[in-house]
Amino acid sequence: MDDLTGLVQQLQAENARLQQQVATLRQVNQSLQAELERSQPPPNLHQIETDLSDSEATNQAILRAMPDLLMRIGRDGTCFNFLPPSSDDSSVFLPVEHHLAEILPPDLLANQLRHIEQALTTGALQVWEQQLVKQGQLCHEEVRLVPCSSDECLVIVRDITQRQQMALELEVKIEELDRFFSMSVDLLCIADTDGYFRRLNSAWEKTLGYRLADLENTPFISYVHLDDVAATIEAVSALANHQEIVSFTNRYRCLDGTYRWLEWRAVPMDGLIYAVARDVTDSREMTLQLQTTKEQLELVLEASSEGFSDWNLTTDEIYFSPQWKALLGYADHELENSIEMLNSTVFEEDRLAGLQLVDDYNSGKVDTLSTVYRHRHKDGSTVHIFTRMIHLKDAESQVVRMVGSHLDITATIDMQQALQTSEMQLSGVLNSSIDGIMAFQAVRNDSDAIVDFEWLLSNPSACAVVGHTAEYLVGKRLLDELPGNKTDGLFDLYVQVVETGEPVERQFHYSHDGIDTWFEAIAVKLGDGFAVTFRDITALKQSRQVLQEVNQQLESRVDELKQRNDEMQRLGEMSDFLQACLTVDEAYQALGTLLAPLFVGSSGAIFMLNSSRDRMEIVTTWGPELDSQPVFSSFSPSDCWALRRGRSHQVGPNSLGLRCHHAEAAAVDSTTLCLPLLAQGETLGLFYLSAREIKQPTQQLARAVAEQVALALANLHLRETLQYQSMHDPLTGLYNRRYLEETLTQEIERAQRQHHPIGVIMLDIDHFKRFNDVHGHAAGDRVLEAVGQLLRGSVRGSDIACRYGGEEMTLVLPEAPPDIILARAEAIRHAIGQLRVNYNGMTLELLSASLGVASFPAHGATGIDVVKAADVALYQAKIRGRNQVVVYSACHESSSGPRA
Ligand code: GH3
Ligand code: MG
Ligand code: MG
Repeated sequence: MDDLTGLVQQLQAENARLQQQVATLRQVNQSLQAELERSQPPPNLHQIETDLSDSEATNQAILRAMPDLLMRIGRDGTCFNFLPPSSDDSSVFLPVEHHLAEILPPDLLANQLRHIEQALTTGALQVWEQQLVKQGQLCHEEVRLVPCSSDECLVIVRDITQRQQMALELEVKIEELDRFFSMSVDLLCIADTDGYFRRLNSAWEKTLGYRLADLENTPFISYVHLDDVAATIEAVSALANHQEIVSFTNRYRCLDGTYRWLEWRAVPMDGLIYAVARDVTDSREMTLQLQTTKEQLELVLEASSEGFSDWNLTTDEIYFSPQWKALLGYADHELENSIEMLNSTVFEEDRLAGLQLVDDYNSGKVDTLSTVYRHRHKDGSTVHIFTRMIHLKDAESQVVRMVGSHLDITATIDMQQALQTSEMQLSGVLNSSIDGIMAFQAVRNDSDAIVDFEWLLSNPSACAVVGHTAEYLVGKRLLDELPGNKTDGLFDLYVQVVETGEPVERQFHYSHDGIDTWFEAIAVKLGDGFAVTFRDITALKQSRQVLQEVNQQLESRVDELKQRNDEMQRLGEMSDFLQACLTVDEAYQALGTLLAPLFVGSSGAIFMLNSSRDRMEIVTTWGPELDSQPVFSSFSPSDCWALRRGRSHQVGPNSLGLRCHHAEAAAVDSTTLCLPLLAQGETLGLFYLSAREIKQPTQQLARAVAEQVALALANLHLRETLQYQSMHDPLTGLYNRRYLEETLTQEIERAQRQHHPIGVIMLDIDHFKRFNDVHGHAAGDRVLEAVGQLLRGSVRGSDIACRYGGEEMTLVLPEAPPDIILARAEAIRHAIGQLRVNYNGMTLELLSASLGVASFPAHGATGIDVVKAADVALYQAKIRGRNQVVVYSACHESSSGPRA
């Protein structure tokens, strides 16, 4: 800057000198011209000489003072007078006669001659500059030429070599100055003392946006920030008063209206003010910012939960900030600032580790003093404090300090531990899970659409399925490794999970990328991605299939069993019905209806062996087929292979030769089945079945049915026999006395209700004891048998004929009036008398019988009374001589007595 100022000053001085010279020349010239004009027009040289000599003294003084060469030249270039420059010699205008060619090179000569000609022709002043070498040096000359007669001119030659050089130098200097002006990053300017800019460098445009044209008509102060105007005016007025360099700072308005901080240095010089301004806006802002940051830092320290310590190792003094103490639960005044206090709160183990750390730091093993110490909190709990120490050495004072910051990271440690535990648990779950677990992060394109997924995690089970390690998979892309996910639509499904957040559960068969497995998978959104858990269910699927097949088999078995069950139920029903039947005939009637639903699609019949055991007689049939396939209604047992062999006999269309005779009428394409009905080892009859096909279950059913039917019929037979026997006398075939007594009571009741009579006849064979004695008991039995047969044949269906005991018989005749009873008794007595009984090939002697007759209600109110009355009458008949009929009368009562 000082250089610049010096240069400017030098240049200005130079310039001033030059200007002064020019002014002097101009003055001389003017006076010359005035002189010339005054002497115009010169009549001739003599006249001039005369004029000149008139004012010789003045002129000579002027001419002597002139630094120029002066001469008179003729039209042809001949010089007449010559006045060397600044000659002190008084002999001016030496009378010489030279030619210009002697002093000028040809080109300059030609030029000068041309100017002479021009001047002589026009009479006008000719002025030009020319260069020529004089005594080995290049000289610049200014030539002025005026006509002084009709063919002579006055010439003034001035050496302007020095002036020319000066001008060139000035040009260079100004150029340099301009370059300097334009190069400077500082704002350079020149202003006048009124405060208007005269010159600006280009930095003004770069920094503030102004060109000179923008500012030159407005005072400098009008761009200064209002707040800085007063200070600026004060500074500028100091400049004007003291004429020395003045510094000041103000905000200056830019072209865009914003303000920049400018730091000015200005100096007054030659009525102008030269000033340099530097843009310090950024550094000012930084300073401001720094100050704010410092204030904020102080605030932060105060507000921070972090504690600070400052340990002067030189004096061993230590300071703990209140926050540090607060970390241990103490107020500032509760804990002293001492090493002992520190040692009392820190865990011994950690204190030793801390000392070791300091040793390591001093020996250069570690380069930081950061570690975690465990301290005892006021409440007894453990506080984890992260301590960072900085080792400081003051270069001046040589004081060594340890400045520490202390942060309670107990919560973080606790969280870390919890995190570690949960991580351990998670990794335990992941590693031990039989299910495959993988997690992915979405990979999105510029338009935020998911284009792929990146592996975040893969547990061992998932790795086994994919066939890669977790280290390999993490960071890889799903579609790169398992492109089958795209083809299978799983990828789109995962995208859906990520976009909607809805979990998806699915079973699928994956048969790509070397995998051929059934999976059951659940995918859930996880951040901007998803986690998927999947299970290999191939074996399950297979076993499910097997299970399904087994199930189907079971179902068909169940159906079969149901059918069997139905059949069993029907069989049971049939059995119930049969057991409920009272008579065999009743059973025969029911069997057809009961058996038809058991053998749907087949026809059948039951044959029973007749009492003479030589014919099989049909008792019932069922099914439609028997209409078209008639069977014999009876046949000989020998016509049936089953009966002959005592076992079932089935014949299909392929073995017609073995078909039974009785089944010959059956269709040739049908199958027949014969089952003997057996009970207690005896053949009762035959179960016959005919159908297009008789399968195993039907055969079994038929066997069961045959067994049941045989048993039921055998039972009925037995029951019928027992019933018969319980009511009948086996010898005579008549009802027994028990039956008589039961029936008579019922008959009396009925007769009482319907008001009709009942007749009772008591019959006793005469002298039968003697007959036995004569012919033997067997013959007697034969007689009793014959009498029984006679009595059975001589009573109506509603009458009761019974053996009262021994050779005594009783007849009960409901609704029979007394005369009819008597007539019947007589008829019986007569028939017995006629009875011829053959025994052992001979006819036995004729017998007679005595009969007593009584009737209800005439002879007794009860059955017993009426029988008793008949017995009394019989007794009378015996008394009266036997072989007669006596009707009871009250008079007999007295004569009645016990009979033998
Ligand atoms: P009456 O009746 O005429 O007075 O003479 P009676 O000989 O028939 O007399 P009584 O009634 O005392 O004898 C009955 C005989 O009948 C005695 C017995 O030998 C015989 N009698 C009874 N039951 C049977 C029997 O079941 N079979 C045979 N052969 N004889 C029988
Ligand atoms: Mg008797
Ligand atoms: Mg008798």
